[in-house]
Amino acid sequence: MYVTQYPVRLRVCAIANDDWGETSLTKIRGVETLVVKVSKDLSEVSKALITVHELSHCLDWRDEHVEEARSNDHGSGFGLAYAKVWKLL
Ligand SMILES: [Zn+2]
Repeated sequence: MYVTQYPVRLRVCAIANDDWGETSLTKIRGVETLVVKVSKDLSEVSKALITVHELSHCLDWRDEHVEEARSNDHGSGFGLAYAKVWKLL
């Protein structure tokens, strides 16, 4: 079993700038939460693929300071998380 550092909320919705997906750390009712947004305009297959990608960011997410210091948010930690999420499927 894999555990994220923060609770995760998944939303399928419109996203600015025609992005396919995004993940951000946000306080919801005082609780820091990773909010994953997946574009509602994608095909069902694309939504699934983007969800896997964004959930991998959630699994790889560390505290905000570390996230800001990263030069590449698709580095080796992300790659390992991506493999773990696919393994669950
Ligand atoms: Zn990414």
